Amino acid sequence: MNSTINTLVESARQGDWTPLLETAREVPGKNWPEKALCSGLDFEDDFFPESEHPWSDPDQLRESHADSLRLPLALCSACPLPVAARCLVDALRYEDRYGIRAGLLAPEREVLLSLWKTRVNADSVEAVIQGVTTLLNSAERTAVIARVIEDPEVNPRLVAQGLGIPIKYLWQLVREHKKRSADSSVPEAA
Ligand code: SF4
Repeated sequence: MNSTINTLVESARQGDWTPLLETAREVPGKNWPEKALCSGLDFEDDFFPESEHPWSDPDQLRESHADSLRLPLALCSACPLPVAARCLVDALRYEDRYGIRAGLLAPEREVLLSLWKTRVNADSVEAVIQGVTTLLNSAERTAVIARVIEDPEVNPRLVAQGLGIPIKYLWQLVREHKKRSADSSVPEAA
């Protein structure tokens, strides 16, 4: 991992995701892998070290696989920063739990992934409320549905548009959210 992506990752670990996300936005669209250093080369397997699992000990892995990790880690380190940031953000978005991304081994991304899954970005939630299609994690999606229920000013049609789902499916999510809330408020029998 180069020192600059390291700074973005550290900031995200501390709870400030803005630098990482802003940098990733510099390579918008679906064709960003064309700019990746690993793109089109015939060594994809090198990015998936043998015996690498989300629960592996990353230090041990780096030591025992030092030779085979050298090439992919060097490529990640030299990859353009916005591409590496986008690579990492997409790995988090799609919960990609295997392989090297932005110089991080799978087990090194686990803490970041659990922080990502519970983070609620107010701007992303607001964008969806305003009808702007935005990719959300499950915590942000829950926050949007809660707003539909609690805030009479929120326009459900815009929210459905922002979530990229039919309005009927939005009402289904609303019903499920209400049911979950009701179930969790019922005291357990002694
Ligand atoms: S950071 Fe590494 S894995 Fe990600 S696109 Fe660049 S070279 Fe490929």
